[in-house]
Amino acid sequence: TLPVVQKCFASSAPKPIINPPIKYTELFINNEFVKSSSGKTFDTLNPATGEPIAQVQEGDAVDINNAVAAAQEAFKLGSPWRTMDASKRGMLLNKLADLIQRDAVYLATLEALDNGKPYSVALSDDIPGTAGVLRYYAGWADKNHGKVTPIDGNYFAYTRHEAVGVCGQIIPWNFPLLMLSWKIGPALAMGNVVVLKPAEQTPLTALYIASLVKEAGFPPGVVNIVPGYGPTAGKAIVDHLGVDKVAFTGSTEVGQIIAEGAAKSNLKRVTLELGGKSPNVVFSDSDINQAVEGAHYGLFYNMGQCCCAGSRTYVQDSIYDEFVEKSAKRAEKRIVGDQFDPKTHQGPQVDEEQLKKILSMIDSGKKQGATLVTGGSQVGDKGYFVQPTVFSDVKDDMTIAKEEIFGPVQQILKFSDFDEVISRSNNSDYGLAAAVFSKNIDTVNKAIQSFRAGTVWVNCYNVFGVQAPFGGFKMSGHGREMAEYGLQPYTEVKTVIVATPKKNN
Ligand code: NAD
Repeated sequence: TLPVVQKCFASSAPKPIINPPIKYTELFINNEFVKSSSGKTFDTLNPATGEPIAQVQEGDAVDINNAVAAAQEAFKLGSPWRTMDASKRGMLLNKLADLIQRDAVYLATLEALDNGKPYSVALSDDIPGTAGVLRYYAGWADKNHGKVTPIDGNYFAYTRHEAVGVCGQIIPWNFPLLMLSWKIGPALAMGNVVVLKPAEQTPLTALYIASLVKEAGFPPGVVNIVPGYGPTAGKAIVDHLGVDKVAFTGSTEVGQIIAEGAAKSNLKRVTLELGGKSPNVVFSDSDINQAVEGAHYGLFYNMGQCCCAGSRTYVQDSIYDEFVEKSAKRAEKRIVGDQFDPKTHQGPQVDEEQLKKILSMIDSGKKQGATLVTGGSQVGDKGYFVQPTVFSDVKDDMTIAKEEIFGPVQQILKFSDFDEVISRSNNSDYGLAAAVFSKNIDTVNKAIQSFRAGTVWVNCYNVFGVQAPFGGFKMSGHGREMAEYGLQPYTEVKTVIVATPKKNN
């Protein structure tokens, strides 16, 4: 079965906090909250109103340098962090997860306020998901084994999986807490130290987590969180010679800038989780209602702001008309509104820039000849709300079929046969995810082998588990996050070769 798509408050669910106090707006360096060295601040806005929630200290290259220095100190051999028993690192991660769950209502309120996602979804998905990722990696902390390998002659060798060192982590605004956990979980479990920059649109929950990092008992300098803008604070992380690795989630365009900067500075290690334009292929032998629901969830979840959104829905010709009609009806059932209204399924888009981009994509769809079946406009004139929108008669060369929209806009394309749809699905620079809906096991298995994508969903969409790795083929990125695979980018392999004593020696 598919996950429940529309999450409304269960009557027993805790209510959000009205006008939550904003406790932390400063940079977190060396376990202290400090002002930015430039004295600059920036506003973070409530996307439902466009009004400021708080002024946040704006970090830049000087502050990143201070954070890197604190991280380097924490990573020195003999430091409390380096001498800590690995199982204690796991206990600290579990403690952090406990504190997140203790403060779930406050954190879900803050996440909804800053990002615009419905509070009910933040409480049911983002908070337990974040704690779950930290607990999963807590379990790995003391299970990071190297290997012993005999080599010829009077020697033997073994490998140590050592921490990489200072990890710069740059995250986006669509899942502020979850993305933070995907980054710090494996990094800390493997004994690294972190300088993390949240997205400028959504810095508040990361700064609250910083206070919990201190409360949990992590030594100073192990986790540093510096809000700021990409071209200043983000770039400073990428260029810094004291940073050993950078992990980034965001647009492919910025991913390319980061890979280049990392290569030119000190060839720091890079993992990238970038954009997508994922195909979702619905065959006529699928359960049509399940497929309509799966495609709806695969596109509209999180206001369409998912890198893996199923934003090219290919439907076989014999069921195409029925599928379009059902999809439009399904989209029309979505209630768009304030993120704290218990009836809301879909809150505002994150900011005005995204709103404008989505509206201009809708415009291009209409101009290029797609049929607008439902939606297509902004909702109201305050905040950044967009109607759930469905286009049919979409052709592969239209902009809405090629470029990431990152909004609640579904593109439905028609296909006739297997080879055609697979070749059209793979005809993209991206390769993050793909899905197939069919009851025929041969069709499904052939599709799984044929898709050039990092995740393939079968008769479902947007299902995640920390035990399953996530990442992209092609221009959707490098490396994998989550699961055991997610540990590898946070360790260096050191080979040790030991001479065995010779006879009579
Ligand atoms: P972005 O890629 O510009 O921003 C993501 C993060 O990178 C932010 O923390 C930002 O401050 C930082 N950043 C930006 N420029 C940087 C630079 N030169 N050096 C270092 N860090 C830098 O994404 P955006 O502008 O917020 O959104 C633009 C588009 O990106 C969206 O419309 C969407 O298509 C895509 N996006 C993808 C994801 C994803 O999960 N893959 C997430 C957010 C946005």
